[in-house]
Amino acid sequence: MFDLGSITTAVGSVGTAIGMAKTALEVRDFNASAAAISDASQKVINLQTQLLSTLGTLFELQQEKMSLAQRVRELEEHRSDRERYSLFEITPGGFVYRFNVSPETAGASNPGGMQPPHYLCQPCLDVRGHKVVLNERAVIWHCPECRAAVDNGKTIDVHFDI
Ligand SMILES: [Zn+2]
Repeated sequence: MFDLGSITTAVGSVGTAIGMAKTALEVRDFNASAAAISDASQKVINLQTQLLSTLGTLFELQQEKMSLAQRVRELEEHRSDRERYSLFEITPGGFVYRFNVSPETAGASNPGGMQPPHYLCQPCLDVRGHKVVLNERAVIWHCPECRAAVDNGKTIDVHFDI
């Protein structure tokens, strides 16, 4: 646990112990100075242990911060990508996401506007957050991932040549 207060207290206590050792040495009280030096040494060792543990915690926090920053970047990219699509009723009751190709979103400031028109699977995008481009088959738009099918409004002309 990162606890700056306890480190400050430990640093203060080392300073006090060193001060006592100096005072004992100045008055040539060797018994007292030996005890004070031993006390100061122990406090320095304790402080080192505490600092190492704090450095470990700081390292973990730094790693966590980097991974959160990466996650925020990914979510922002995902959101801005998502904003380039609008829900569109391609046939009555058939919903897809349509790429926005309006003049105000296309152009140099939004190179995405250069993409060819395409549709995304609505359940895949809304439910799973997956961007899946629909493929057009004879009379449907088909999702290769969830296999959803949306009527494309076309009909098949069947000719029987007899
Ligand atoms: Zn799908």
